[in-house]
This record gives sequence, C-alpha cells and structure tokens, in this order.
Amino acid sequence: MTAIPKTQKAIVFEKANGPLLTRDVPVPVPEPDEVLVKLLYSGACHSDLHAWKADWPFPFQYPLIGGHEGTGHVAAVGSNVKGFKIGEAVGVKWVNGTCLDCNFCLQGADGNCPGARYSGFTHPGTFQQYCTVKAAHAARIPDGIDLAEVAPILCAGITVYKALKRSDAIAGDTVVITGAGGGLGSLAVQYAKALGLVVIGIDSGDAKRELFEKLGGDVFVDFKTDDIVKKVIANTPNNEGAPAVVHVAVAEKAIETSLDYVRATGTIVLVGLPADAVTHSPVFGQVLRAVTIRGSLVGNRLDTVEALEFVRRGLVRCPIKIVPASELTNVYTLMEEGKIAGRYVLDLTKF
Ligand code: NAD
Ligand code: ZN
Repeated sequence: MTAIPKTQKAIVFEKANGPLLTRDVPVPVPEPDEVLVKLLYSGACHSDLHAWKADWPFPFQYPLIGGHEGTGHVAAVGSNVKGFKIGEAVGVKWVNGTCLDCNFCLQGADGNCPGARYSGFTHPGTFQQYCTVKAAHAARIPDGIDLAEVAPILCAGITVYKALKRSDAIAGDTVVITGAGGGLGSLAVQYAKALGLVVIGIDSGDAKRELFEKLGGDVFVDFKTDDIVKKVIANTPNNEGAPAVVHVAVAEKAIETSLDYVRATGTIVLVGLPADAVTHSPVFGQVLRAVTIRGSLVGNRLDTVEALEFVRRGLVRCPIKIVPASELTNVYTLMEEGKIAGRYVLDLTKF
C-alpha cells in the first residue's frame, strides 16, 4: 500500500444545481472507530442526482461531496478498529454510521437511527479518492469480486433486495418492478429471479427491454406504448393482478397506476423518490381489497451481507458502464433523460 497523501481529488457540489467541480480537498483522518477507504469506483445513483438538484425535502448542506456506492481498499484504520486489514477490499454504503444503540439500530432499521450519517448526504461521500466510514458499517467485499461491478450493490443492490423481502413475495409469486431497466431496477430483476419470482418489468424503449430480457425478466411492459394495467393483469395467474409491486421508477404516476393492477391482498413497496410525489390511494378500495402500501429505505448490515452473497454466488451481476469521474455531469444528464440502461460507475482514478 502506498503512502496516504495529504490531499486528493473530489467532485464537489458547491451549491444545488451548480457546476460539478473537481477540487483538491484534504484526505480525511479516521476517527478511532472509523476506516479510511482508498476508493477506486463509485456508482452514480439517482439519489445523488436528487442531492445535487436538492429536489427532496432533506436538509442538504453545501458544499457537498456526493456518492454512496463506493468500493476500494482499506488505507488506514482508527485506533479502536479491529478486524480490518490494510489493503482489504471494502465497500461504502449510503448508511455510513449509526449509534448502534437506539431501538431502531436494535431492530435493524439502520437508516432510521436518529444518529445516522449518510454518505454523500450528511458525510462526505464516494465521489472522492479517500473517504471515511464507521468500521461497523464498512462492507466486507467477498474475495474474487470485481470492485467496479460490485459498487452498485452498496446502494442499489441492498435496497432492492430489502424491498423484495418487504414485498412478502414468495417463490412462484409474480412481482411487478417499475423502472426495471434503470440502476435499481436492473438489479431488482435479478434478485427477484434468484428468489424464484416471476418478473414483470415496466420501463420504456428497446435498450431497457433488451437489458430486461437479457437479465432473465419474464414480461416487459413499455409504459409509453402499452396499456399497462391490461398487460400486467393479463400476465398474472387467473388474471387476478400482481401480489407484489416494487416501485423504483422515479415517477409518481407509476405508483397510482399500480393500484389498478395489484392483486387484492397484495403489497406495494415504495422505493423510488420522485420529487414532490404523493401517493393517492382511495381508502375504500385499499381497505376492501386489503392492499398494503409501504415504504422501504435501503437495507441494514445483514441485508448487505446477504445481498453481496448473491453476487459472490454469481446469481446477480451489475450491468455497468465505467466512465471517468470527470464524466459525472454527462451521467446526470443521461439519467434525467431516462437514457441509462443499468448503472454508470465512475473510475475515481480519472478526474
Ligand atoms: P434510474 O434513473 O437508474 O432508473 C429509473 C428508471 O425509471 C429509468 O429506467 C426510467 O426509464 C424509469 N421510469 C421513469 N418513469 C417511469 C414510469 N412511469 N414507469 C416505469 N418506469 C419509469 O434511477 P435509480 O438509480 O434506479 O433510482 C431510482 C429511484 O430510487 C430514485 O428516486 C432514487 O433516489 C431512489 N432510491 C431509493 C432508495 C431507498 O432506499 N428507498 C435507495 C436508492 C435509490
Ligand atoms: Zn443510492
């Protein structure tokens, strides 16, 4: 391992929607319970785009170093850290640290810990060459896994794996995934197949359809050209509708439409966070059809271990395109236009 420099390159969001600037910033020094990670790759998640645009009611503070799907190697450990070796492969998630003590931590709701800090949101994230993470939340990457390919698991993979669990779908059930050709969606399709589910994916265009089919998805519905409700229902057993729906689309309309194709007694899981979106569900229909609508926020430390195990076993592979870190502005443009099939991963050696 080479010596740790005093400064490094980082992409800094100086202000919401402002230019994305490459800056020289200090390399952080790890606290006693932290690991310093020399980052090689970071996925670019749509949540980073929301953070840059500040279109969520979240207390963003600028300047901000975004990014929360990082992979690299341990460069240094704090004085109280045990069990991490210098040079070991490690991942940085959105949940960067928690108190480990509150009732939310005890129940495994890491993201809801009042003391949680979030990579790229309230703690300098993975769009830089070195970052710190609480050792308890540093993800161990199993041997032999490509560090670029695994980066998106650290947010997208964990999140969709958890959301599928929270959908209560069991092997043989049909799940609808909206946004199926995007970053979270392309992983959701694979986790769902590995869990034995029949997958109906909703997205638009040939590139997303081709990716969906390549990943083993069963029925593709194009939200721009198909009659969504009719096609989903026609592809469920007895035309009863889908027992599980996972929304990763960044679209309020997709959520409302799903009320018309979810099976009575089914579960709709909200994951995607379109700006200013509201769920409109008529109470009468929701009660009489006994439909559950629930939110799902990333996943906890155990979900992380489990989500990575699917990758180690070769059941899930991220469809990635690696680009220089300096390309982030272009990545955001493509993302806003809905033109990214799969995930873009930044090469943090190229600024
Ligand atoms: P992405 O841009 O890669 O994918 C979104 C996909 O939705 C695109 O493929 C787009 O074509 C598709 N889409 C748009 N409108 C649609 C519609 N009406 N019906 C079906 N599909 C439609 O984004 P991503 O990185 O996969 O993130 C998705 C969302 O999930 C973002 O809002 C992000 O902030 C959120 N997110 C939530 C959590 C969580 O813990 N809840 C974690 C990570 C990301
Ligand atoms: Zn994310």
